[in-house]
Amino acid sequence: MFETLGDKLGNVFDNLTGRGALSEKDVNTAMREIRVALLEADVALPVVKDFVEKVRREAVGEKVIKSIKPGQMVVKIVNDALIDMLGGTLSDEDADKEEAAKANLLNLQARPPIAILMAGLQGSGKTTTSGKLALYLRKSLKKKVLLASLDTNRPAAMEQLGMLAKQADVGFLPIVQGQSALDIAKRAMKEGAKGGYDVVFLDTAGRTTINDELMDEVEAIAKETKPTETLLVADSLTGQDAVETAKRFNERLPLTGLVLTRIDGDGRGGAALSMRAVTGLPIKFLGTGEKLDGLEAFDAERLAGRILGQGDIVSLVEKASEFINEKEAAASAEKMRKGQFDLDDLAKQLGQMQKMGGMGGLMKMLPGMGKMKKQLDAAGGVDDQLLKQQQAIIYSMTMEERRNPGLMKASRKKRIAAGSGMSVQEVNKLLKMHRQMSDMMKKMGKGGMAGLMQQMGG
Ligand code: GDP
Repeated sequence: MFETLGDKLGNVFDNLTGRGALSEKDVNTAMREIRVALLEADVALPVVKDFVEKVRREAVGEKVIKSIKPGQMVVKIVNDALIDMLGGTLSDEDADKEEAAKANLLNLQARPPIAILMAGLQGSGKTTTSGKLALYLRKSLKKKVLLASLDTNRPAAMEQLGMLAKQADVGFLPIVQGQSALDIAKRAMKEGAKGGYDVVFLDTAGRTTINDELMDEVEAIAKETKPTETLLVADSLTGQDAVETAKRFNERLPLTGLVLTRIDGDGRGGAALSMRAVTGLPIKFLGTGEKLDGLEAFDAERLAGRILGQGDIVSLVEKASEFINEKEAAASAEKMRKGQFDLDDLAKQLGQMQKMGGMGGLMKMLPGMGKMKKQLDAAGGVDDQLLKQQQAIIYSMTMEERRNPGLMKASRKKRIAAGSGMSVQEVNKLLKMHRQMSDMMKKMGKGGMAGLMQQMGG
């Protein structure tokens, strides 16, 4: 799902993350590309405008442009804005558990039988979704469920729901010829109470277009049965039409949420992306297939992750901001630029690398470092054990030695080796690594990352 949009945004991000420094112009170019990508994905124009403006505002901020990994920061900002647009995150606790997440999506606290009213255009997937939700409620939440079809115009629709009820192994309200939709709804609620059902699904009739007759009917049923949930089912493949439909239904019915179907075939994602922003209604479920198990609890974070496909970067930036002390990082970046990167700084960096999951993680985060990481891997890689040993060596030095590695003579090296439980060769190796890093940083200071990559032949 959403492949096209994901690919397009991926290209924008490649351009951003492939470079070291970012200018305001770079960000503006990227925002233009994101805007086009969203419009092509059929996202509603006002939603696109808000989104791009919000991201741009944050992305041109000092904190981003001056950070050591501005491109990644922008990816994270886009990710968060996307989650926001889709309706925010569940609490951490809930997000852990798919089942808990689903349970929270439907309000099932009221006294049974609870009515869930299903509304939507014909062919949107209303009946199928009723079957899917019934199965889920019975299997996962152990609810006793009754399905009732109110589609008096289409006997086939009633039979279809009957078949789905059988498949899902839930109750089905027998069809009585000649009853009005409102009569059936009343009978369903009565049967629900009598039969000890927890939940009664009222699958209303669909029409191919919205008209007053349809709206009046659904409105009357809602008034009569006072549903705890009134869900609008919309076909995501119809893009902006689905959004328009949701808007129209929302004006007449007290909708509590949305179900977007045929997400499995939705390469663009426009409806899913604009739905929440345009209607203000939460998306509760996604239909992901024709079968009864093709239902997913909606989770904004997960969907954003799927669309962007940048999970690695997002979690690394999150991890980094969790562990890296911004002030310290800025100070050491400044020192690097001036070529004053001493062993004490190196020890701090080694400590951070460990917290962040080793060298690999950090290398990935630093722009342009992917290549170096590959070279390191080819040379046997850098492991956490080594990071610890290197740190131990530095901690066995006096502060004076750390500030001024030039002091290091044979006797000092021997003492340090003994203190850290390492050999003199290993102390030498560390000193050499530090020298190389300082040289590298001086070059970076002069020509920036581009200068460095040139030097490295990259
Ligand atoms: P209704 O008229 O709104 O009740 O729509 P139906 O439930 O009869 O669905 C119409 C068609 O869409 C059926 O062929 C369903 O199998 C199909 N359908 C419903 N939901 C999904 C979905 O999430 N994915 C896919 N691929 N097909 C779906």
